Formats: sequence, C-alpha cells, structure tokens
Amino acid sequence: MIVIMKAKAEEEDVNRVIDTIQSLGLRTQLNLGAERMVVAVIGDISKIGEDNFFRIRAMKGVENTVFVSKPYKLVSKDFKKEQTIIDVEGVKIGGKKIVVFAGPCSVENREQIMEVAEKIKKSGASMIRGGAFKPRTSPKDFQGLGEEGLKLLYEAKEETGLPIVTEIMDARDVELLSEYADVLQVGTRNMQNYTLLKELGKCDKPVLLKRGMWATMAEFLGAAEYIMNGGNEKVILCERGIRTFSDYSRNTLDLSIIPAIKDESHLPIISDPSHGTGRRSLVLPMAKASVACGADGLLIETHPDPDRAISDADQTISLSAFSKLMEDLKQIAKAVGREI
Ligand code: PEP
Ligand code: MN
Repeated sequence: MIVIMKAKAEEEDVNRVIDTIQSLGLRTQLNLGAERMVVAVIGDISKIGEDNFFRIRAMKGVENTVFVSKPYKLVSKDFKKEQTIIDVEGVKIGGKKIVVFAGPCSVENREQIMEVAEKIKKSGASMIRGGAFKPRTSPKDFQGLGEEGLKLLYEAKEETGLPIVTEIMDARDVELLSEYADVLQVGTRNMQNYTLLKELGKCDKPVLLKRGMWATMAEFLGAAEYIMNGGNEKVILCERGIRTFSDYSRNTLDLSIIPAIKDESHLPIISDPSHGTGRRSLVLPMAKASVACGADGLLIETHPDPDRAISDADQTISLSAFSKLMEDLKQIAKAVGREI
C-alpha cells in the first residue's frame, strides 16, 4: 500500500500518517518527490484492514491510499516518479552521462588489472569491473583470486581513481567485499538468492543487480524490491541477456526491457552486451543499440590479450577495441540527448 500526500500537506500531516501506520506494527518509507510525497507501507499489509485503509485516506493532508498489487512497490514509479541517480564517488548513474563499467571477466594478476585500469581510464570508462569470486559452470574452472583479487582491484583504484565493481556470491561476504568494492554486483545466477538480496538490503553499498537469465520483468523488479525493502535504495539494474532457442549467441540480449523498465521503475538500468551476446563481434553493435534505446550505462568485458582471458574469452574485446567502442558511442549518445 502507498499513501499519496496532497501537494500542500504539512510535515505534521505526514508524521501523523507515519505514526498511524507504524502503530499498526508496519514500517514506512518516505519519498519526498518534487511533485508529491508518498509514504510506502512495508510489511504484512493484511494488518491494515479495510477500516484503517479508509481511516488513513480520510486523514488530513492525504490525497489517496492505493493498494499496489504488483510484486514490487518501492522500485515502481507509483512510489517515486523522478529518475533515481546513484552517486558512486562522484560517478553519477542514471543522469545524462552514460556510465561505462569495464574490465576483465576475472582479475588474473597485477599486471593485467593495472594495464586494464590505466587504458580504460584513458578511453573514458567510469569504473573498473572485475571478478574476484567467480560463478563458474564447472567447479574445475578457475574460481577467481578471492581476497587477493580484491586487493589488486584496490591497487588499480588507487592508481587510477576508478571506483570498483565486483561480484558478490555469498551473503556472508558482504563485510569483506564492502572493505574494497564501491558497487557490489549480483550475478544472473543469484538474482533470486533472497538471503543474499536481504543482506544487501541492510548494507549501504550500491548494488548492480543483473537480470536472471530466466527472469520476467516482474521477477527482476521483485528482486530489486528485496534490496530496497531492507532500506538500501541504491540499486542499479542490468540487462545481461536471457536464454532463448536462438543459438548463434550465448544469450539473447533483451533490449526491449530497457525502455519497458524506464516506464515502470525509477531505477537506473544498464546493458551488458558482453554476456548478452557471448561474441566479440556483437559487442559493439549491441552496445550502440543499448545506448540508442535508453540504457544508462554499459558493462563491457575487456582484456589486454582477450584470447588468453581465463574466463569469457569469446566475448572479451581488446583494449584498443574498447577505446574505439567508446569513440563510436559518442555520436549515438549525442543523438539521444546523452553524453559518454
Ligand atoms: C560477469 O559479469 O562476469 C558474470 C559472471 O555475469 P553474469 O552473472 O551476467 O553471467
Ligand atoms: Mn564474465
């Protein structure tokens, strides 16, 4: 349920509404929008009952009370109309500038990550992204350098100033990863790991939530709702391709979800044409298409020697191809009123 306040409602009217809801054993979240203030009710809505629903609607300063039947509320435009902009050490995600998170699939060694960090910075990337804890299909495959990888990312950040994005796979690792990372990535396989999502809801790090490769839009936004429900409002969505019958690419990058999410949610959404296609040759065209259809950012896998990348070599582009990609995207960004 949400309570929409009148434009002229006073602070004490809002507080009275909040107190009434909280006295029923429920939590509230307030959105002080430019156009209107909305109080979202969090918890077991059945505690409200019909009587209280209409009692709250009749309170001073209240415009309307609405039951939200979707599996999400805080992520929706019903709760907040204005686009959310997330500030990560000065990098603004969701604003006019398209943010690019770039780096190797896995952090492999110091030399590799330092070279990547320096070159992507020169090309205009906003953050360095690399995996230290890797979700691999086979347990025999390289699982990442773990904390050593986080330390190397941190060195790269100290050298270049680029904030760090890295994947979290286990709810028990929030504290460890938070020491090093600026954004915690939830991979496609963990999109519905609710224990992990709840834990991330309690921390104050921005979360990059990738779409489950099987997930509908409602399931994707429902996963984001878990994080916001815990009090963490800094969620960045990421389309990374879904499984279809199409077999010429690793996944099918579902670009139509980008404008669809823009209609439905205030959260920023970025696109990952690397995992979304699985093929080097498709990364640039799909990056262009992503920017054209309104993505707020891109996630691109790049490596000094892509053929030798330990993971995801087939979709990893060279550092010179990355530099060209950043150049090529400028015109597309301009055409849609953005910059890169
Ligand atoms: C990754 O970003 O390297 C990754 C494993 O992505 P996904 O979870 O989308 O497969
Ligand atoms: Mn990868």
